[in-house]
Amino acid sequence: MSISRTTNISCPACGTQQDVQLYDAINVETDPQLKEALMHNQLNRVDCEDCDASFRVDMPLLYNDPGNRMLIHWVPETANVTREEILEDFDESVEQMNEMVPADINLPSVRLVLTRVELVELIFMIEAELNQRVVEYVKYSIHTRNMGKVDPRKSRLLLNVQDSTDEELCFVMQDVQEQTLGKVLRYGRAAYQSICELYDEAPEEFMEMFPGPCISARNLLLDDGTSA
Ligand SMILES: [Zn+2]
Repeated sequence: MSISRTTNISCPACGTQQDVQLYDAINVETDPQLKEALMHNQLNRVDCEDCDASFRVDMPLLYNDPGNRMLIHWVPETANVTREEILEDFDESVEQMNEMVPADINLPSVRLVLTRVELVELIFMIEAELNQRVVEYVKYSIHTRNMGKVDPRKSRLLLNVQDSTDEELCFVMQDVQEQTLGKVLRYGRAAYQSICELYDEAPEEFMEMFPGPCISARNLLLDDGTSA
């Protein structure tokens, strides 16, 4: 089931107050049209009733994909809540949840993302059956080998599943401040496959590097940077 509520908000362009329906949680099995809206950047988008402004209301969203046994929380960073605070709070609540649930219950995987583009990227990855930890490992090595050009403080790497081919994975650089997309980087599919083989041999090493729930090479690099 999906969960929505009616909220009164004012248009950022003209200030008109209006009641709008916004989603807190979407279930893509029962409401596939909401997933389509999300993928097309239409979910929680408001068209002002008084002027022609169209704006998106970003608020925490739970994406539930029961078929793939996957729960993804999107918790947007705001002026009041930093990335570090979101990660810390989320870790705490996952820990509490794990303590409450009996050990023999097999919980769906829980993921955390901080931006809509990362949510969309992750949905594509799950559906293409790509290994998210291996993909982030690839990003990690692209960042560390090209620190000058692909600086994690300024850029985020996004996997573009749709433009990837059997030969190459296609990554696009996004400017974190401006949110604009830039250079495209290609990574051999064969190299990705060999890392998948390493993963199958020793998954615990990848788990240790990316324990979750936020699996992100960029976050790992930023955290290493602040603790160094
Ligand atoms: Zn307006």
